[in-house]
Amino acid sequence: MNVERANKKAKVYLVGAGPGRADLITLRGADVLKAADCIIYDKLANPALLKFARADAEIVHVPKRIGGRSFTQQEINNLLVEKASGGRTVVRLKGGDPCIFGRCAEEAAVLAEAGIDFEIVPGVTAGIAVAAYTGIFLTDREHSSQVVFVTAKEAEGKQKSNIDWPLLAKFSGTIVFYMGVGNLGYIAGRLIENDMAEGTPAAVIADATLPTQRVVKAPLGRISEKCKVEKIEPPAIIVVGAVADSDTTLNWFMKKPLFGTNIVVTRDARGNADFAAKIVQRGANPIEFATIKIKPLTRTNEFLRTLAKIAEYDWIIFTSSNGVTVFFEALQSLSKDARVFASAKIAAIGSETAAKLSRFGINADFVPSVFTGKELANKLITYTNLSGRKVLLLRSQLASKELVELLAEAGAEVQDVAVYTAVEEKSDSAWLTEKIDNGRVDWLTFASPSSVRVFFEQIPGEVVNSSDVKVASIGPVTSEQLKNLGIRVDITATEHTIDGLIAAIEESEKPKT
Ligand code: SAH
Repeated sequence: MNVERANKKAKVYLVGAGPGRADLITLRGADVLKAADCIIYDKLANPALLKFARADAEIVHVPKRIGGRSFTQQEINNLLVEKASGGRTVVRLKGGDPCIFGRCAEEAAVLAEAGIDFEIVPGVTAGIAVAAYTGIFLTDREHSSQVVFVTAKEAEGKQKSNIDWPLLAKFSGTIVFYMGVGNLGYIAGRLIENDMAEGTPAAVIADATLPTQRVVKAPLGRISEKCKVEKIEPPAIIVVGAVADSDTTLNWFMKKPLFGTNIVVTRDARGNADFAAKIVQRGANPIEFATIKIKPLTRTNEFLRTLAKIAEYDWIIFTSSNGVTVFFEALQSLSKDARVFASAKIAAIGSETAAKLSRFGINADFVPSVFTGKELANKLITYTNLSGRKVLLLRSQLASKELVELLAEAGAEVQDVAVYTAVEEKSDSAWLTEKIDNGRVDWLTFASPSSVRVFFEQIPGEVVNSSDVKVASIGPVTSEQLKNLGIRVDITATEHTIDGLIAAIEESEKPKT
């Protein structure tokens, strides 16, 4: 243990992860995750939140089946104290809000007793989130001016109930049950037995805020049967009361054109994460399957020599967002920043490359929306006189040489420096073949010919062609590669970017009127 750590005071944050969708965590929650030495996370907390974790943070998943058993609350309490020892910062990440049916009181008491500092970061609880994501307004003033949250985790046949069923049955507002799907029949039965009308509206919302969200509505007397038929599984919230029979036109989330669509993304891991985030924004379900790995080439002598005299160039050209990321990571590791460019002008192919540059504080001087080296060369030559100008290309080792030749023909002194290359990435693929075969994938997306090649070295083309899955490609070169392998191409994006690819899928999924 280093001295700095030994002097640091232990601190535990009990953090609400929000109801499911990763970006529904609070800013404070995300901030403390970034600072954590150790993150202990619950099964309802979205694992995508671990992207905020430091690379060296210790990650502990509870409750987790180890040798067939789950962690007990006592074990979790002990773990909190143990992990905080030695002055560590621990985040206990819990689904929804940590204090709503979240055993927060017990954990806080254990920490207080152990003399460990703690802070509680609230989160959006599932009961509140279902209202926003289904249009079932818990306090719609037409129907309800009171709401009650109830934990329905009661064993059937339990001698003495903690729930005041006669009171709930008379309640004129909205009742929100947590943890109740397993004994929905029992819940409805107790309410009806205590004189609540069988026709009282009820709704069950599973996987709220996620692309797998489902809503089942029925009168109280029939809700349990309907959920069984529809095979509703936990986690789910049950809403009982007039508001449950809400106007479905206000269910904005499930009306999104891509809601619930399962889309496989096949770029490199980082590219997939960016792509997946955009897909989630549209209510679709991303399935990540990396086919390539970006390998930086920024430790080569050629790169370091180029960097040392980079300010001497008149134009510096980035042709992909990967090139930008790898370049700036190299700058950072050398304790340098964007000032190395001095007055050199910067060009970026396409809006994605330009957007990535702007994340590093660079406003590109020239951003042609073109997709080939030839188009870029023609536009740049028309834009400025390149005769005698020094031009630096920072791009993939695999890029075509056409751009270099065309710029040289226009009189430029061109240097083409590879900052990265793409190597193939292969992993277990049987699960994906099975998913496609079982009709659980709606779209396969391809953003480069190399992704196509590596993907079909692992997934049999016949399975894809004979299933209902649709194939979307980013542009003509990628489509050509698919066709060469005998794969049916359903759509080719007209704008050859990830946004263009998503837009094309969205267009094709729109109900035809
Ligand atoms: N602290 C959590 C609740 C934990 S109890 C919170 O504030 O949300 C676990 C119960 O929460 C589940 O049984 C279910 O009733 C509800 N729940 C959690 N996440 C949910 C989700 N995404 N959709 C529907 N219900 C959810």
